[in-house]
Amino acid sequence: MSRPWSMRISAEHWAQLHSHLFPGDSREHAATLRCGLADTPSGVRLLVREVTPARDGIDFIQRPDGTHVLVASFVLDNVLRAATDHSVYIAAHCHGGADEVGFSGTDLASHENSYPAILHRTKAPAVGALVFARNAVAGDMWLQDGRQVPLHHLTVTGPNLQVLTSSPAPVAQADSAYDRQARLFGDRGQAMLRAQKVAVVGLGGAGSLLSQTLSRLGVGQLLLIDDDRVETSNLSRLVGATHRDARTWLTDDQRPEWVRRLGRRLSTPKVTVAARVARTAPVPPDVHAVFRSVLEPDVAALLRDCDHIFLAADTAPAELLVNAVGHQYLIPVTQVGAKVNIDRTTGTVRQAYAVSRLNGPRSGCLRCTGLVSSDRLRRDATDPTQLRRQDYVGGENIAAPSVITLNAVATSLAANDWLTRTVGLNRSNASTWWTHADALKGTTARDIATTLPECPWCGPEHFGVGDAGSLPTRH
Ligand SMILES: [Zn+2]
Ligand SMILES: [Zn+2]
Repeated sequence: MSRPWSMRISAEHWAQLHSHLFPGDSREHAATLRCGLADTPSGVRLLVREVTPARDGIDFIQRPDGTHVLVASFVLDNVLRAATDHSVYIAAHCHGGADEVGFSGTDLASHENSYPAILHRTKAPAVGALVFARNAVAGDMWLQDGRQVPLHHLTVTGPNLQVLTSSPAPVAQADSAYDRQARLFGDRGQAMLRAQKVAVVGLGGAGSLLSQTLSRLGVGQLLLIDDDRVETSNLSRLVGATHRDARTWLTDDQRPEWVRRLGRRLSTPKVTVAARVARTAPVPPDVHAVFRSVLEPDVAALLRDCDHIFLAADTAPAELLVNAVGHQYLIPVTQVGAKVNIDRTTGTVRQAYAVSRLNGPRSGCLRCTGLVSSDRLRRDATDPTQLRRQDYVGGENIAAPSVITLNAVATSLAANDWLTRTVGLNRSNASTWWTHADALKGTTARDIATTLPECPWCGPEHFGVGDAGSLPTRH
């Protein structure tokens, strides 16, 4: 069987499309979509970059026989616009009804008439059409290689995750191990969690808590990425890690340096520990543990078919990369972290706080907000110890303070926010949610996330561009 084709759309684009197709008059309306592509081993994703509403009576007209059609010049303009930047042209229109939808014979005949010619003229990888009911969508994709495939589903990334199909899918009863949480969000919510592929980048203190939480909640697939090994100083925070993992008997201060170096080289990768813990969940996720840097191009490529990414690595190059993946592939990214600031001269604790920052797509960008500054990028890219060790600060070999409770605050905020959005319980309409918890004052505040129009990572040139764009990987 060929790989499924699906589509992702941001909350903002979905609102634009949905309000145009369903203004409340129960008549047919149409629009075109310009999409990037993510061609991954698990399937092909269309990534909506732009929605162009067709004006009723001008771009979308009624023929004498009562059927509706997009006028040829409107189609041509949009097909050519998509072709100029290697995007995929998709036509969308609506039918009546709510939860079930399919193309009419007239719809299918018009695809037959025009799509082979469009594919031939533009050399685009695909062209296609969607038809919507209020809560359902069907798609008919025509591919350059001559195949014709349906759209498997449409995902709306937004305040609450929505997955639309052509007819309601049956929901299995949740495993009895999930009885208590399924009482909160139902079998449907539990099934939504099972359908998720979630990545955790960075399996230090925060990442290990996230991995454990996600697996206990019942996530279906976990992608864990980290190239670091367990050290004795991690054992106070790393979930599931033991002295055996840290090879403490070799890395002990009493040992000669060459024995300690050997111990550090033999200690367990952090991803291995996290995978071991994740697999103890009642219904274990399918875990893919990658003991390599996310900055390697083929490792970064593994993120492309995720539904959500948790960013728990705090080096600037990794932050820049994951932030770019989120906007380029329309995958929400939550950055989690905890920081303690200490006055170097007096030793006074200035600040201790935990953050959870949910970014877009299309809203909230770590680069725009100045969090991934050019200074940090330069420093972290040139100092190899900075790339590896989140424990060290300021470019100096002084271990930064870190404590499991701060990580737990940050990861609980992040995981809870993700959970409510995934199971449909979120009551905020924000696509972006930046929370800052002050551990000394006991206060919580919302930080303002920004996106700048000219940003090379979240702006129109990068947004939803998928495989046609490049990522800031190491090479
Ligand atoms: Zn139709
Ligand atoms: Zn940006």
